[in-house]
Amino acid sequence: MKGRTSPTFVMLNLFQQVQLDEIKGYRAPMTETPTRHASCRCGQIRIARTGEPIRVSVCHCRECKAWSGSALVAQVRFPEEQVRTEGEAQAKMWQYTGDSGNTADFFCPTCGSGVWYRAQPYHDAYTIPLGNFEPGHGFVSDYSVYEERREPWVSITGEAIDHYD
Ligand SMILES: [Zn+2]
Ligand SMILES: [Zn+2]
Repeated sequence: MKGRTSPTFVMLNLFQQVQLDEIKGYRAPMTETPTRHASCRCGQIRIARTGEPIRVSVCHCRECKAWSGSALVAQVRFPEEQVRTEGEAQAKMWQYTGDSGNTADFFCPTCGSGVWYRAQPYHDAYTIPLGNFEPGHGFVSDYSVYEERREPWVSITGEAIDHYD
C-alpha cells in the first residue's frame, strides 16, 4: 500500500524489536523519542509510532463527531515514515469527500474502533484517534478546529491552544 516490497516484514521487525528492547531494558539515545503504541479496542490492529506528531488537535466537525460517536474527537497526526502498523490487512476502509477533501477512514471490523484516517492534502500522514493510545502518551492538543460546530457545553481550555472556526 505504501509501495514497500515487504511491509509485513518491516512492521513485524519493529514490533519484535520493541519487545526485545523492553526485555533487555534498552534505553534509546537521548535524541530519539520513545515508541508509543495505539490499538483498536480488540487489539487486532496496532500502531507503533516514533518521533513527535505533526499536530495534536481537537475537532468539532460533523464527520469527526460521527466517526467517534461523541461530541468531538481528539486526534494525533504523524508523518507516514514515523508510523508502523500491524494487522492493517484486517482494517476496513471507507472513502468519502468531506469538508477537508477526500478522506479515507480505516476501522476495525471486529470491534468497530476507528484506527486512523488519511485525508488530502495529508495523504502522507496518519491521523490517529488520541484515545487509542496507551495511557501515558503525553499528547496535549494545540489546536481546536471547527469550533463554530462545537457543542455549546464543550469548552476547550489552555493557553497553548489555538482556536479556529
Ligand atoms: Zn478491533
Ligand atoms: Zn473533524
